[in-house]
Formats: sequence, structure tokens, C-alpha cells
Amino acid sequence: MILEAHAVAPFFKNGFVVGCERTREGVIIDPGDEVDVLIAAVGRQSLSVKYILLTHAHVDHITGVGPAKSAFGAPVYLHRDDLPFYERAVQQGQMFGLSVQQPPPVDVFYDLSPMKFGDYEVRIHHTPGHCPGGVCLEIRDEDTHLFVGDTLFAGSIGRTDLPGGNYDILMRSITQVLFPLGDEAIVHPGHGPDTTIGRERKANPFVLEYLEQP
Ligand SMILES: [Zn+2]
Ligand SMILES: [Zn+2]
Repeated sequence: MILEAHAVAPFFKNGFVVGCERTREGVIIDPGDEVDVLIAAVGRQSLSVKYILLTHAHVDHITGVGPAKSAFGAPVYLHRDDLPFYERAVQQGQMFGLSVQQPPPVDVFYDLSPMKFGDYEVRIHHTPGHCPGGVCLEIRDEDTHLFVGDTLFAGSIGRTDLPGGNYDILMRSITQVLFPLGDEAIVHPGHGPDTTIGRERKANPFVLEYLEQP
């Protein structure tokens, strides 16, 4: 499987290109400010992008949707519960003092059924808590790859102090939706380095604190 991650200032939010080496079909995940790098990667890998997939609609994860849509013409997917955030992209940008263009409309809401590209499929897991419409995108080759957005990070967890955030719901998503996907599963967070479910289950201080609660 072809897999590239790229991030640029100011958010250093990871955007991903995932592709099938046989059919050259691929997907883009969370195009943000690094979208030009993602578009170049797609060209270099000779991929045809079938879907633009969003883990959630915080502004750092969607600023590249417009250019990605123009470049590839592929449909944009989001969980329905994050539509209110998506529709307020401009206002989200203003919160960070950034001028952001409103991205093109969402084409499809995830219905949680698997989506095929080439020899692979994307399985959708609803993981609210960081925001109401957060999802984990699962793609398997010989490994299980989890694109978790801002739900879980290496050694940390997503913030829950933003509108629509909820700590208990987030911890339930992490421990009851992500953890059952297996200790070996590779976690690709929205920010920072990769990790694994096993490492976070055993050593993530926020997870340990939650699990130790009476
Ligand atoms: Zn976020
Ligand atoms: Zn983020």
C-alpha cells in the first residue's frame, strides 16, 4: 500500500495520501494547509483519487479541501454530526486569526459501510468526543492502519474543551472503539508521530488515568 503523510505550519496537521500500488486508485485524508504537497504526491505516485475523506471538520483538517476538490474532482466525505463545524470554517479560522475560504460543500455523509479503492477498503468507525462527528478510518494491508484524526495522539488525547467536545465520550471512543481494533494496529494521528494501539493502551498517561478511575 502506498502511504504518505505530510504536514506544514502553522498547525502541523497531518494530511495523508493512501493508494493501491496495483490499480493506482487512492484516497486523500484531511487535506489542510499541506494540500499542495499532497497533490504533488498524488502526481508523483500516478494515483487517481477516488475519495476525499475527512476525520472531522476542525479548520486545520479542511483548509485544503477546496484545492483537493479542484485538483481531483473527487467527492468529499464527512460525518453528518460535524456538518455545523464544516459550515463555520470561516469563523473557525477567525478564532485562530486566520483568513480561511469556505470549502466546497460536503458531497456524502459517511453511512459507516466500507468504501473500496483499488484492492483496499476503508472502514469507518464513529469516534466522537473531540468533536461530535469524529471518525476513525481503518485501512488494512498486512497491517491495520488507523487514521484517527484528533481522537488519540502518541502519549496524549484529543482536547475536549472545544464546542461539542466531551471527555467521557472521547475516552469511551478510545477504549471501546479504537482499542478493540488490536494492539498491533498502527495509529496515524492528526498531529505528531505515529504510534500503536498497544503502546497507547499500556503507556498513554491520559488513558491510564481514565482506566484507573473507580
Ligand atoms: Zn480537531
Ligand atoms: Zn487537528
